Amino acid sequence: MTMHAELSPSASKRWLMCPGSMILNKDLPNPANDYTHIGTIAHEVAECCLVRGDDPERYLDWWGFVNAQGGAGVMKELGPGSDKVFTHRVDRDMVDAVKVYVDVIRADIAEMCGPEVKVEERVSMEWLAPGMFGTADCIAVEPLGLMRVYDYKNGRTVVEVENNPQAMSYGLGAMGEGNPFGIEEIELVIIQPNAPHVDGVVRRWRLTPEELIAWGVGTLAPGAEAIELGETRLKAGDWCQFCPAKRQGVCPEIRRQMFGAIDVETDSADLPVQAVPTLPDPGMLTPDQVARVLTLEPLFSSWLKDVKAKALEDAQAGRGAPPGFKMVAGRSSRKWSDETQVKARLSRHRQDVYDIALKSVAQMEKMIKAKGGDPAIELEGLIEVNRGVMLAPEQDKRKAIEPMFT
Ligand code: SF4
Repeated sequence: MTMHAELSPSASKRWLMCPGSMILNKDLPNPANDYTHIGTIAHEVAECCLVRGDDPERYLDWWGFVNAQGGAGVMKELGPGSDKVFTHRVDRDMVDAVKVYVDVIRADIAEMCGPEVKVEERVSMEWLAPGMFGTADCIAVEPLGLMRVYDYKNGRTVVEVENNPQAMSYGLGAMGEGNPFGIEEIELVIIQPNAPHVDGVVRRWRLTPEELIAWGVGTLAPGAEAIELGETRLKAGDWCQFCPAKRQGVCPEIRRQMFGAIDVETDSADLPVQAVPTLPDPGMLTPDQVARVLTLEPLFSSWLKDVKAKALEDAQAGRGAPPGFKMVAGRSSRKWSDETQVKARLSRHRQDVYDIALKSVAQMEKMIKAKGGDPAIELEGLIEVNRGVMLAPEQDKRKAIEPMFT
């Protein structure tokens, strides 16, 4: 029997762009972090709402949990159970974010023609890419009509919908081999309430079954086949962000790019510890080198952060600090251990124990909205917008600003 690599749709951009990452990551740990767990719990709340017809408000202050097997649940009170590896109270922010997602789907369904709605639906792309399957957050299908495939993103890293390999893969899986429902158009919908975007938090992209299949046959299937054949080519880009090889600081391509971007005098991935490269004066870089450094900046920053985190983790676990480093006490921060006790013990100071500050513009808008008011009217003339300028890649959707002096 042929064993196929497990090709995850959520990592599809990474393995399509950097096929060698599959081999490099094969034995690397890829533990979920708190953000991933919180995202899993938000998905769980969303699923409960869609399946049971609940308002997300119902789950405010409930407890979400993730167990050792990666499963999740929400409950009013945390019951016993030793396999809970992560717990998180469903807070106002999570309820508001899930509500955006649930409301969009409910509004869409209301205007569709008797769609079949599937929540947390397992879909298979194996007819194009053996070893590839996943779970779509929600699918609404009008037979012989429109199919909408929803992907809820809880994170703050902006995810675009156009040409998004994960969303397209789910679209292919939801449509199925041979398009048995006779779907005429597919709409991929990404709902990302926690990440501001010029196109809004709900982003849609439509394409025909033929266009989607063309991508599946021309891009997805050959990409999966290359991995099957043991392709080792590495290529760095924005898809590296959550790559275990980067998080563990072991990707040779990242190191090569990092030093190659500015022509540092080394081509060795195994730099000796003392070989600290001399970085050129920014004023001496060519425009091409500046562009290259700026393009790679997010990658470098997050890689450096990952390397530092890994080194500290090793030191804390007793595996030793890297040569030339040691573990020392960090900067201490103090906070109240129990605010109720503080208030009780210092009550003779009355209001002096409080520091009252105005809420931020965003908090004030939220408060006014929650009380049924209109922030645009109540805050008219009170907000000063101070917008600076920044550099952005050419493909950024914001309009380019001309310099004041030329
Ligand atoms: S960090 Fe980037 S270049 Fe390295 S293996 Fe991962 S995806 Fe590929």
